[in-house]
Amino acid sequence: MPEPFPGTGTAAAELLELDRRHVWHPYGPIPGAEEPLLVESAAGVRLRVADAAEGRRELVDGMSSWWSAIHGYNHPVLNAAATEQLGRMSHVMFGGLTHEPAVRLSKRLVDVTPEGLEHVFLADSGSVSVEVAVKMCLQYQRSRGRPRRQRLMTWRGGYHGDTWHPMSVCDPDGGMHDLWSGVLPCQVFADAPPSGFDAGPDPVYAEHVRDLVALHAGELAAVIVEPVVQGAGGMRFHSPAYLQVLREACDEHDVLLVLDEIATGFGRTGMLFASEHAGVAPDVLCVGKALTGGYLTMAATLCTSRVAEGISRGEVPVLAHGPTFMGNPLAAAVADASLELLLGQDWQAEVRRIEAGLRSGLAPARDIPGVTDVRVLGGIGVVQLDGPVDTAAAGRAAVREGVWLRPFRDTVYTMPPYVTGDEDVARICAGVRAAVAASAESGPAAGAVAR
Ligand SMILES: *Cc1c(COP(=O)(O)O)cnc(C)c1O
Repeated sequence: MPEPFPGTGTAAAELLELDRRHVWHPYGPIPGAEEPLLVESAAGVRLRVADAAEGRRELVDGMSSWWSAIHGYNHPVLNAAATEQLGRMSHVMFGGLTHEPAVRLSKRLVDVTPEGLEHVFLADSGSVSVEVAVKMCLQYQRSRGRPRRQRLMTWRGGYHGDTWHPMSVCDPDGGMHDLWSGVLPCQVFADAPPSGFDAGPDPVYAEHVRDLVALHAGELAAVIVEPVVQGAGGMRFHSPAYLQVLREACDEHDVLLVLDEIATGFGRTGMLFASEHAGVAPDVLCVGKALTGGYLTMAATLCTSRVAEGISRGEVPVLAHGPTFMGNPLAAAVADASLELLLGQDWQAEVRRIEAGLRSGLAPARDIPGVTDVRVLGGIGVVQLDGPVDTAAAGRAAVREGVWLRPFRDTVYTMPPYVTGDEDVARICAGVRAAVAASAESGPAAGAVAR
């Protein structure tokens, strides 16, 4: 069988040089500063990478491609769904037209998400789904005769995407978005929730959050948070009880509650949605990342009938948003197949199995100098350091162990695909430990502020 491209030696070197000169990478400079790995193909939980120096290698994927590839790569069921849909149509506009993949997916999302969420806006990325959520909330408040309710409240340590409004509710310190303070809309920030999934709710913190909602109620359209796990803001876990506190405070002041489950949705924390840990249903829900099993870019914003009807009663009685690739049939077909695949198996047992593997495999990292915490929840394993990770040294050490990781800030973490076997989970843990040790040895580092 002919090779798609030689992949090693000069061909790889040439591609990497062109990449460095011409191609932006996430949060990167031009010309590129770090040399990316060249991926030829991926199957199961393995990435097949090539580089000029060492030729081809397989790496076990500890990242699920930014937490999205929950079924692994090149999955026959998802491939079949994509191929079948390609044979019908890859895309048609969604204005004035509709199609089975979008309708089926939307119905399935309504069925599996928390009670009360009835209406689905299919967006083309997580950040856009957050923009849509914000627009929904502002339009809702406006149509209720409260046009001054335009601000959002969140807690520190969050991440909601890189477009404008999502940036404004990301953690204002650290990260990259503090570059824009003074330009971004000024939102209301509570302190970061106290750490620890199992730590009982701190009454002082609960009071702080309640007070802040009450104080700003007249100008708040919504509260938006990541439930239970703050992801790209620092991989921190908090007590689900704070979601109940937020739900009650929002209800009391007629402020909408938006839960951003783009990272946590579809089983990652051990529940299908992280809000289920608290038994709390939001007014607006964002999902993305794992929605298409990591195949294509698609996200969704769901809302209750109260929100939708509120918008419909407004002076502009429509939701004023409509991306060109809205409802993309190819992405919708794969997303529907991914959900069917997930729900058709005992996914919770798989996530629990991975959780157990991460707990035992990461525990020894506690003894590495500079490690202040090791925490695991569902399919998420995090080693916390006392300072910035030397991301370059840590990444290289993981690759030497045959594992793909992308440490950031002061953590080395993993979110493996749910299909990762026990041996590969153990290997990923060895990769995490090696990455942590390499970072500890290299001394103080600049670290990477963004994911
Ligand atoms: C990744 C992420 C986003 C942004 O999604 P994109 O698809 O990258 O735009 C928003 N919120 C959370 C919680 C995320 O983890």
